[in-house]
Amino acid sequence: MSQQNAADPVVGRLAPSPTGALHLGNARTFLLAWLSVRSKGGRLSLRIEDIDGPRVKPSAAAAAIEDLRWLGLDWDGEIVVQSTRLEVYAKAAQCLVAVGAAYPCVCTRKEVEEAASAPHEGDAQAPSDGAVYPGTCRGRFASLEDAKAKTGRDAALRMRVDLGELPFDDRFCGPQRGAISGDFVVQKRDGGPAYQLAVVVDDAAFGVTEVVRADDLLPSTPRQLLLYRALGLRPPSFAHVPLVVGHDGLRLAKRHGDTSLRHLRECGASAAAVVGFLAWSSGLRSEAEPCSARELVESFDLARVPKGPVRGDDHGLTV
Ligand code: GLU
Repeated sequence: MSQQNAADPVVGRLAPSPTGALHLGNARTFLLAWLSVRSKGGRLSLRIEDIDGPRVKPSAAAAAIEDLRWLGLDWDGEIVVQSTRLEVYAKAAQCLVAVGAAYPCVCTRKEVEEAASAPHEGDAQAPSDGAVYPGTCRGRFASLEDAKAKTGRDAALRMRVDLGELPFDDRFCGPQRGAISGDFVVQKRDGGPAYQLAVVVDDAAFGVTEVVRADDLLPSTPRQLLLYRALGLRPPSFAHVPLVVGHDGLRLAKRHGDTSLRHLRECGASAAAVVGFLAWSSGLRSEAEPCSARELVESFDLARVPKGPVRGDDHGLTV
């Protein structure tokens, strides 16, 4: 199993979670993901990651699609909606059990339920990434049915992690040790997929060759690489770009003021002004002058993006 060859056609994706309004931080990450693919003449899919039950907001998917269009970011083909693909994830989970890579686990309901969320830093509702599962249920049950019969509880499926590290080369952050902190959930108690599994199954199914996303998901990557390995799939390349933060250095959120694209637009900011600000904050333009996403394609270079986090709550846009 190796990462992509330079000669492969480039395929990327935009993968919003419809858990709230898109803000400047999401917009910057999506702009960079889009530019990275379009500057190489590649294809891009849009995937709505709506498996995160309680956190999903009914109208947020449609709003995210509209916001992306407003920004001038397009995609190819049908929109992929994760909630319509539950059977595909369940099959992959079964494969993991069949090859002995995952096992039924009846522990810690809370942690299991929370596993559908992409673990973003500074996100009060997302699970903490720190807890290491002690392996209590390893080897305890022959199957999900066996776990239910013995404990009366529905079991989740957990990946067996026998290595502490899975090193990889990040296109933006460079070589990574790839620490993996213990056995992690791939299927929740209710049978739904955990974020880690759904994202791998979909990126592989749609031929994604490069993932560009925010660097608070960097710790998820070794787990995803382990899933690629266990499922016999070829992983994409990964580039984790810096977060957009507020004055306190934490991931941009409501408490930093309303930086949602919707709000900026309602207050009169044009898409060109927003893209121009994002391009400037990404080192792609020397001034925050209005411009379109298309105008940035030709000269795009990921290496120009500053390595540190950028402030998003002092954007100076007309509001
Ligand atoms: N849907 C995830 C999020 O918005 C992103 C997942 C990914 O890019 O792998 O947090």
